[in-house]
Amino acid sequence: MVYLQCGRLGKRISVAMSQTVRAYALFALQFLVVFGVYFYTARWGLNLSAINDFAALVWPATGIAIAAVYVLGYRIAPAIALAAFAVNYLIGAPILAATAIGIGNSLEAAIGVWLLRSFGFNPLFSRLVDSFVFIAVAISATVISATIGTTTLGLTALLSAADVPVTWLAWWVGDTISALILTPFLIRWLATPITRSRRTVAQLLEGLAFFTALIALTLLVFWDPIPGLHEIMHPYMVFVPLTWGALRVGPRAMTLAIATVAALATFGTLAGTGPFAFIDGGRELFLFALFLSTVAFIFLLFVTAVEERKNASKRLEENIVSLQEDVEEISAADQAKNEFIATLSHELRNPLAPILSSLEIIRMGRLQERDARPLIETTYENVMRMTRLLDDLLDVARISRKQFTLQMKTASLKSIVQHATAMAQPLMQKHGHSFSSALPRDDIQLHADQLRIEQVIVNLLNNAAKYTPPGGTISLAAHASRDGAEIRVRDNGIGISKHLLEKIFEPFKRFGNGQRVAESAGLGIGLSLAKRLVELHGGRIEARSDGPGKGSEFVVWLPVADAPLLLPTASESQDVRTPAEPSRKKERKRVLIVDDNKDAAEGIARLLNHSGHEAHVALDGAHALATLANFRPDVIFLDIQLPGESGYDLLRTIRNYLDPAPYFVALTGFGQEEDKEKAREAGFDGFLTKPVSIADLEKVLSHS
Ligand code: ADP
Repeated sequence: MVYLQCGRLGKRISVAMSQTVRAYALFALQFLVVFGVYFYTARWGLNLSAINDFAALVWPATGIAIAAVYVLGYRIAPAIALAAFAVNYLIGAPILAATAIGIGNSLEAAIGVWLLRSFGFNPLFSRLVDSFVFIAVAISATVISATIGTTTLGLTALLSAADVPVTWLAWWVGDTISALILTPFLIRWLATPITRSRRTVAQLLEGLAFFTALIALTLLVFWDPIPGLHEIMHPYMVFVPLTWGALRVGPRAMTLAIATVAALATFGTLAGTGPFAFIDGGRELFLFALFLSTVAFIFLLFVTAVEERKNASKRLEENIVSLQEDVEEISAADQAKNEFIATLSHELRNPLAPILSSLEIIRMGRLQERDARPLIETTYENVMRMTRLLDDLLDVARISRKQFTLQMKTASLKSIVQHATAMAQPLMQKHGHSFSSALPRDDIQLHADQLRIEQVIVNLLNNAAKYTPPGGTISLAAHASRDGAEIRVRDNGIGISKHLLEKIFEPFKRFGNGQRVAESAGLGIGLSLAKRLVELHGGRIEARSDGPGKGSEFVVWLPVADAPLLLPTASESQDVRTPAEPSRKKERKRVLIVDDNKDAAEGIARLLNHSGHEAHVALDGAHALATLANFRPDVIFLDIQLPGESGYDLLRTIRNYLDPAPYFVALTGFGQEEDKEKAREAGFDGFLTKPVSIADLEKVLSHS
């Protein structure tokens, strides 16, 4: 074990050591390369164009030095200092002077890079500000080495005082041109990775044509290949292809183009050809240097301005596209909302029509009990249908807002299926469907909210009834599977197209198979609610169909309970939508209903009086307090939104007024969990969402 650990440690140390050695080796190599390149280009520059021996107008070394420090870091600066020292020492500068020049030249590169970094320069040259910063740094940092160099040479008497200004100028101009031309090229190509070109063939061909034209024209201007041609050639002619490039090829290619023009023009000029071929080595060379600086200055700014504009318009285009997508999304949502409102009003109008016609017949009077019964039944059925619709809507909203809690218990699959089937039976019978169910001999225990799973199955059965032509066949089968309890509801109805099998679970999505379905389709929330409910249980639901006209099958998988079945208590097994059997012996209660909606309040009072209680109505707070002078209620139903004051305020007033306090029940149209919570906090003992049925009323009264 110890050996093993030692072995591992040794391995780690050797890996770390080899990494360190590799890093040192790499640095040594970089150091040598920078030293060598600087040394040779500096010597070459001095040999070519030295002004008073030490300053050179052609001085690529500075551009290389700044790029080296920018790319490799400040630690490479000593290589530059050493190389500059060596070059100057070898051409005759005393040690002290050579040392000062070496320090000046490396300081120039280090300070230049520090300035670039401080001003947030980006080597991509994609913003105008990057070019401005770069040009400003190139012009100012180079003052350092020119000043240190010429001062040292002046002090050590290698340069006469009279020669200092012109040498300083040559030094500074040489360094600046080099920084302006070589550094952008090197850092644009070295500091940023060459991303795989996403250029088209046409763009590549254009780039090739541009470089060919640029090289050809530069050679024609600066190399005099055709005798006498230089008479009509002017240096500014290279501006033509350079302008083309600045507009079309981007900053990376342009830094190369500027460096190419500078190199070709320099070689031509030094060879004694072209417009700047020098006679006395002074004035023309200065003019040439000025020309190159102008080219670099103009085209660096030009290409970055173009690039910045291109990027800005690209961003603008992207924004426009995303805005367009947003607009499309918003208008789709708007259209969905309009459709939803139209469907909702249609869905509410459907049950309202039979309610209205039934009520109108009843209103006419002279109806025998026998004739009134079916009308009342129709009215009741349709009111329940509207209530269910609103409940479903509230459930969808609650689940979306994550305010939905399940009453999880151990529940018998058999009892769930039986309840659900009983609830769906009327619709199936109405359409003349035959129904069969197959349940496992041994009951399956689910870990579920019984009412919610019943709701899911009722939904699937009702859909099967709705989307199957009259006289169809509907079946329900359940068994235990690997994925839990599996419940299948199958019909031989209109079927579902393959591409809609997923979509039908999205809220408010309804799909028709012609006129028939459009009429029978509901709000399009049944399946989305079913899916969400099943998923909240940790299960899943799937729709299957072989296509239109071939029937459909919905399969639900639900997790089974680990624990043995606990028989539900009477109150747990109660469905709020089916009339409740009061758990205690029914008592006659004195009830006060406070609601500004006269019809609603009197409706409740009538129901209560009819079922043996004593109920009174008050339409506002003052009326309620007046009633309390002669009537001591056991229960007060309080509308939350009363004119003038809220139900909460009235509750407090009555509480102070009556002792012992009655049982308070909040009555409201808002059935969200937060409304119930608020009512509980305000001191209400019970909560009812309008509309209320006699079952709801009896249930609360039984608790009072
Ligand atoms: P709704 O029935 O209120 O339209 P659902 O969410 O319950 O809303 O159903 C969404 C859509 O799924 C329906 O409009 C219908 O096109 C399709 N659908 C649901 N059940 C069936 C089925 N058993 N057979 C054929 N299509 C169905």
